[in-house]
Amino acid sequence: MPKKIKRIAVLTSGGDSPGMNAAIRSVVRTCAYHDLECIGVYRGYEGLIEGDFKPMDARSVKGIINKGGTILKSARSKEFRTVEGRQKAYKKLVEAGIDGLVVIGGDGSFTGAMILNDEFDFPVMGIPGTIDNDIVGTTHTLGFDTALNTVVDAIDKIRDTASSHNRLFFIEVMGRDVGHIALNAGIAGGAEEILIPEEDLGLDRLVESLRRSRKSGKTSSIVIVAEGDKIGKNIFELKDFVDDNMEGYDVRVSVLGHMQRGGSPSCFDRVLASRMGVKAVESLLEGKSNYMVGLQNTKMELTPFDNAIKGKTKINLELLRVSDIMST
Ligand code: ATP
Repeated sequence: MPKKIKRIAVLTSGGDSPGMNAAIRSVVRTCAYHDLECIGVYRGYEGLIEGDFKPMDARSVKGIINKGGTILKSARSKEFRTVEGRQKAYKKLVEAGIDGLVVIGGDGSFTGAMILNDEFDFPVMGIPGTIDNDIVGTTHTLGFDTALNTVVDAIDKIRDTASSHNRLFFIEVMGRDVGHIALNAGIAGGAEEILIPEEDLGLDRLVESLRRSRKSGKTSSIVIVAEGDKIGKNIFELKDFVDDNMEGYDVRVSVLGHMQRGGSPSCFDRVLASRMGVKAVESLLEGKSNYMVGLQNTKMELTPFDNAIKGKTKINLELLRVSDIMST
């Protein structure tokens, strides 16, 4: 029989994403609903090792559902990667009478949680919080939708100035080694080309496509470049190449950067965070451990950490085709 869960801790780890606060709120309120105590852990695994804990009740999370970032702060912990570090963390958990842990973070954070579970048989549950949408087992990670809206808003604004000056803009977006942000925001922002790591377009095809676009009567162009794309990796070299090889183009670069990680979460992310928090706490109560909660076919489902951290979510080929047709 698994030990009865009475006290649950929650932490945010790795890169932050909009919706993490909404997920913390959901975990805390689900605990309160089930008469469980909830402990907030500051600064991810770093705070777990140091015992940087604070009891949280339902009222302590008021007014945060609409806030970006994470009130618990996030951190990357080198020490947690060592057995000694995890031993210290486990000791702090036991001393504080904590029976289960909810980790809000990316695949690295889940790897850490999985190892903690393997070594000490400590119940853990994960909520995928990253704007990159790169985790297997959920169609949407927390923050992805908000980041898309931020990027689309930026594209719309850049489009205004691009068309006033007949310019070509390369806009670099985040996403690490996957192109989900670039592909979706590119379609929504009406980009002429989208460069993603999953599809090697090549410089020649890019140049050809830009020429075609100019010939067809377009006076300005927007190319969305995923930060992990091979030819986009150095976006300023890409600009120089186009400057040197295509006459008559006034080329500019805009790197959107960390603004994509901030901001008030979208309605979609707030609802998703609320659902994920409920599922995570109730799954721990049911005696489950070592899973990530995720959205699959509109339902909340569990995926073993082992599967969630393996591989990357595949790009939707239908979206690629739509993007090609739309840039005609
Ligand atoms: P993001 O997707 O934003 O990068 P992440 O959760 O993948 O988020 P990481 O920096 O990879 O971010 O991991 C967060 C923390 O998880 C690390 O600082 C470390 O403490 C812990 N962690 C990651 N990998 C391991 C591992 N192999 N063993 C133990 N702990 C790990």
